[in-house]
Amino acid sequence: MGTIETKAYAKINLALDVTGVRDDGYHMVKMVMQTLSLHDRLFITETDDDRISVSTNLPFLPTGKANLVYLAASVFREKTGLTKGVHISLNKHIPVAAGLAGGSSDAAAVLKGMNTLFNTGLSNDELKDIALRLGADVPYCLIGGTVLCEGIGEELTPLRNAPYANVILVKPKVSVSTKHIYEKLELNENSDHPDVDSMIKAISDGNYVGVSSKVKNILEPVTASEYPEIKEIEQMLRENGADCAAMSGSGPTVFGLFTDREVAQKAFFKFKEDGKYARNVFLTGYKYNINL
Ligand code: ATP
Repeated sequence: MGTIETKAYAKINLALDVTGVRDDGYHMVKMVMQTLSLHDRLFITETDDDRISVSTNLPFLPTGKANLVYLAASVFREKTGLTKGVHISLNKHIPVAAGLAGGSSDAAAVLKGMNTLFNTGLSNDELKDIALRLGADVPYCLIGGTVLCEGIGEELTPLRNAPYANVILVKPKVSVSTKHIYEKLELNENSDHPDVDSMIKAISDGNYVGVSSKVKNILEPVTASEYPEIKEIEQMLRENGADCAAMSGSGPTVFGLFTDREVAQKAFFKFKEDGKYARNVFLTGYKYNINL
């Protein structure tokens, strides 16, 4: 019986805009996603019964249907007619409920991993259909890299690799519900939309300064109104040499981009020494190809 080892990478939103709300309540987005090297590790093993089971290093995470890896395995079996059992051992390193798509990325890794392990031959489009049933960010997590995501997250346009940046992630000690933040967002003529088209142009020109000057997230004022530490962290990142700083996804994680690795390292140790954030700070960087 085989085992597959796979990685599930975190993402940040270099730009996140919401352009409207569909009649069915789904938000229409226009966002530039970037995969990071920070990842969870998964071992997917075929078992000799017909059950799905999950174990994880985080005791507070559910291991049944409420875990996205369980759900992904279940929907995958439904779609393919596979009756074999599977055990998924999930080693989390990506902070949970943080705006980094940790759960979505785990789910995408399970879909691809099971397709390989069981030789089920689902096409990329078939995998994408299942992925969208699991969550709006899951189709993106199947491909990773620098990608423009539109629609409700399923219209994917791969972009040229964004110019490399070292990334510091700081997660305040609060967890945020994505649903709650989207529901609180009010779009009107005063909404401060990111200039996603200029960000795309800067990426295609390989213009790092252009990219970092356009980093912005329309959800940030919503989450920051509940958690003012988001703004404090951004300020602290800038004071410690970040070229720009913003919130990722619906938050609360804040990221800072640094061209200079040494400056990033110094800032990382500064946050590490700070009693408030020590356990919740990561130094990582862009990852362009999630299959390597
Ligand atoms: P996104 O950026 O896509 O909004 P997120 O990073 O904010 O996602 P997740 O880490 O995916 O959020 O977790 C959101 C919720 O999903 C948590 O409350 C958690 O209990 C639940 N969850 C289910 N499965 C997982 C998983 N495999 N990893 C992390 N959280 C999971």
